[in-house]
Amino acid sequence: MCNVLKKVSRETARIVSALSPTKRRSTRQAARELNAGDEEGDSGEDEKGALTLRSTSVDGDKKTTSRTPVRKRKREEVSNDEETSVRRSPAKADSTSRKPRRQPAKHIKGPNGSVKTEPPRNWEQVYDATAAMRKRVLAPVDTMGCESLAETHRSPQDQRLQTLVSLMLSSQTKDTVTAVAMRNLQENLPGGFCLDSLLKVDPDVLHKLIEKVGFHNNKTKFIKSVATILSDQYAGDIPDTIEGLISLPGVGPKMAYLCMSAAWGRDEGIGVDVHVHRITNLWGWHKTSTPEQTREMLESWLPREKWHDINHLLVGFGQTICLPVGRKCNQCDLAAEMLCPSAEVRKASPVKKKVKKEVEIKFEDGAVEKADEVVVQADDVGVKVEADLKGDGKIEVQAMAGAVTPDIEDAPS
Ligand code: SF4
Repeated sequence: MCNVLKKVSRETARIVSALSPTKRRSTRQAARELNAGDEEGDSGEDEKGALTLRSTSVDGDKKTTSRTPVRKRKREEVSNDEETSVRRSPAKADSTSRKPRRQPAKHIKGPNGSVKTEPPRNWEQVYDATAAMRKRVLAPVDTMGCESLAETHRSPQDQRLQTLVSLMLSSQTKDTVTAVAMRNLQENLPGGFCLDSLLKVDPDVLHKLIEKVGFHNNKTKFIKSVATILSDQYAGDIPDTIEGLISLPGVGPKMAYLCMSAAWGRDEGIGVDVHVHRITNLWGWHKTSTPEQTREMLESWLPREKWHDINHLLVGFGQTICLPVGRKCNQCDLAAEMLCPSAEVRKASPVKKKVKKEVEIKFEDGAVEKADEVVVQADDVGVKVEADLKGDGKIEVQAMAGAVTPDIEDAPS
């Protein structure tokens, strides 16, 4: 038994170090042959005098065989009959589960009762790394954001109106769809996209032009009402205060702050949409439950010169990398630089289990032999090689990629 273990150890260690960390395959039949070879000397001939060593390894499509079989054989998969889990290395689990701590903004009370807000400690690193990522990837908001949809050849008053309407259309709607609706209005409103046209257009016609956006029925009514209010109360222009903008039907704080910034060039607050709210919470900058709370938290410490940019920055980031569903932490520099406490831990290698398959080995002389094939699957850290010895039970070797393959020659026999 001891000799058998030693022989298997040497052969198995050779397979592990040669193939790690790639997928490798070892057959039960191969183990038998190893065993037989040890018992029968280097000739390795079995009772048929045909098969020698059939330890087969697979590296992608490349297949190598440690000894050439005397007979040609063809392997046919018969069935999948068993699945078992492969144990993961605990060392890897530890290393992948480490996450940076949340470093939220802190409100600090002064002796005189004043409250000072201390920004998240690493916010500048996070912000700069995100800005660098955004420069590398074009997002829908970069070309179809509300700020860029107004017709530049029209008067400043018409452009402000178009910016306001594009923001109203964008609620619960993708940038691409908003851009199409705006194009429809610009190309099909009789007299062009101006206040006079909105006042005159039939609601059904208006509805038809914007019917692809979310909540198009309500938005049709809101746009018609807003046109009347602007004409009656604001001399045909849009309000130039946050209060005035918020008072319009269908316009909330986010739209008001974005509109004030884009249409009037005044950053009086941060336009916090779902992306800004979600991502800044993922970063651990605060724990807030509504965009309004997020806006208040951010405005308490974020330098004013960033108020305009942060919306554009995070909307694009949320559209391309930090997606609402299926965020791409593996492509995110914040995960790589350990700056995001919400980075999703890299999952174990998709190869996580082994499958036992029954295969038929056909020889040229027509003989057929059935064998169990144990597909041993490995990730980039841990690999388990298993051989089922004839009558001697299983021998298992757990190895770490890049480490010296454990030697089981000293194992108790
Ligand atoms: S690491 Fe993941 S959760 Fe954090 S910002 Fe990047 S994509 Fe979003």
